[in-house]
Amino acid sequence: MMRAASPIYLDYCASAPLRPTVADVMGMMLRQTGNASSVHGFGRMLRYRVDEARAGLALHFGVKPAQVIFTSGATESNNTALQAFPVKSILVSSIEHPSILNAAPDARLISVDENGVVDLNHLEMLLKTSPKPALVCVMLVNNETGVIQPVSAAAALCKNYGALIHCDAVAAVGRINFSFAELGVDSLSLCAHKIGGPQGVGALITREGLEMQPLMRGGGQEMRQRAGTENVAGIVGFSEALRLTVEDLQRVPLWASWRENFEAAILHEAPAAVIFGIDAPCVANIISLAMPGVGHEMQLMNFDLSGFAVSAGSACSSGKVQASHVLAAMGAGPLAAQAVRVSFGWATKKEELENFAACWVDLYSRGRVRASAA
Ligand code: PMP
Repeated sequence: MMRAASPIYLDYCASAPLRPTVADVMGMMLRQTGNASSVHGFGRMLRYRVDEARAGLALHFGVKPAQVIFTSGATESNNTALQAFPVKSILVSSIEHPSILNAAPDARLISVDENGVVDLNHLEMLLKTSPKPALVCVMLVNNETGVIQPVSAAAALCKNYGALIHCDAVAAVGRINFSFAELGVDSLSLCAHKIGGPQGVGALITREGLEMQPLMRGGGQEMRQRAGTENVAGIVGFSEALRLTVEDLQRVPLWASWRENFEAAILHEAPAAVIFGIDAPCVANIISLAMPGVGHEMQLMNFDLSGFAVSAGSACSSGKVQASHVLAAMGAGPLAAQAVRVSFGWATKKEELENFAACWVDLYSRGRVRASAA
């Protein structure tokens, strides 16, 4: 079996490696004493760093600092948004992250096409027939397939029907350029750990002037929108990681060429392989592909033994592999249980992706040899 010389990490969408400069600034902040809400000098120094980080995020997404609330991650940001507004119905795309789907169990599902793109006609039909006002959730980039969603068009539709729209932008940051205003949404979820920042910190950006019910109640932190002592080291680390995504955005054309080569190498050796979302606009760093006839658990085990860390369409918290709800919604049928997701980022080298393609082809060929011998 092909084996990588040292383990290769291609699971950035689960969590990206921490960037060294982020670790440095966080280490410095962790050694500081105090609470950002205290009025003495210790507290004021920390407050200054939180405000500076907030200003950095605001500048990046083209909003005012008062529109940015720091949270414990995108799960909290999504849960906050889903209970923040007094709406009469909730419509969510069928490919949303579980932190949307499970936080709105009674929501109506917006369907997607076979490439995993949200069906705007279906959204409009649901908007017409749902109690008003509605809240709609459409993510910007799907975290399993990399498919870019028509969020600004969905936002325009929502406006016509007096609906609010929330967008989970976790998988889009550092992969495509966008501002809050361009999307035209009412709220936006972000998190740090997919871009080389720390786990356990994220943000919710809301439209100026929009009144929102907080999820976390307690002290008056985060402009009374999110109670709890600020995670200063995490917030500063998040802002530093976001600043460094400018370098990632410059690498996007290069990453796109790596992705093309990867897909060509797979399809050349295995024409029966399926690359999901291949006919839709996709970010460069997420590839979801099925090896027909080979279950994803078997693939993951083999890849792990060969030194490659990739994931199934969806990783659940218990560590068990589940068939992807995203691929199922795209009509992938049994292929949904034969797919793995490859995701890469700031520290990935071209050879790592090439070596994984070779390992994938090797496993596929061995399966075919066994099948023809049987
Ligand atoms: N949304 C998307 C699209 C994600 O990929 C993730 C992380 N898997 C989340 C939300 C949840 O983010 P966090 O881990 O910060 O709670």
